[in-house]
Amino acid sequence: MPRILVVEDEPAIAESLAYALSRDGFTVAIAGTLAAAARELPGTDLVVLDLMLPDGSGFDLLGRIRRGGATPAVIVLSSRDAEADRVAALETGADDYVTKPFSPREIVARVRAVLRRAATQVAAPAAAAPVSLALAVDAASRRAFVHGRPFELTRVEFDLLATMLGVPGRVLTRAELIERVWGEGFAITDRTIDTHVKALRRKVGDAGGSAAMIETVRGVGFRVGGDLPPEPR
Ligand code: CA
Repeated sequence: MPRILVVEDEPAIAESLAYALSRDGFTVAIAGTLAAAARELPGTDLVVLDLMLPDGSGFDLLGRIRRGGATPAVIVLSSRDAEADRVAALETGADDYVTKPFSPREIVARVRAVLRRAATQVAAPAAAAPVSLALAVDAASRRAFVHGRPFELTRVEFDLLATMLGVPGRVLTRAELIERVWGEGFAITDRTIDTHVKALRRKVGDAGGSAAMIETVRGVGFRVGGDLPPEPR
């Protein structure tokens, strides 16, 4: 059974989450501080991470997890529904973001969805990187390329880009992206999609591409590879 680490310093919240998760069959550990979380991390499949902890910010742990190349999925809990926090969490590599107050059942559903998504990715068949496009992905190594040069993306950003590149030139609605990237019935808001796409665009731009490579089709959705400029040679 997957092991879930709940990093939360408010005992009532931590315990209700742990109860709901273990009733659902998960193995659960609780850490009330960053220090305890670091000790509990090995062998963890998913971290439910509060941002405000007595010995620092959950962002520190999230950054350390991602820089270290560790694999656990991360769902960030925040008491503030601040756009800046959400963007920072997703850009630092969180797989999902939930604002307090939430119901334990909602968290259990999100934990299941994030783990399902992670499992699907491992099992995904390898696809060759299309070399003709200015933007490309290699599903086997989960690397993304701008003009043939690899660049870093979070898991969600990679999945969004891979999904759009899978149907080059076609407009994907936000609902289609949610269904393909997160799975049906997963409560992702349009604003969350837009936040991920914004981050993806910025990274494509920073990597030497153009933000316009990911086109917004107003009132419909997003498109990649419709009329990309030819590769410079
Ligand atoms: Ca807290």
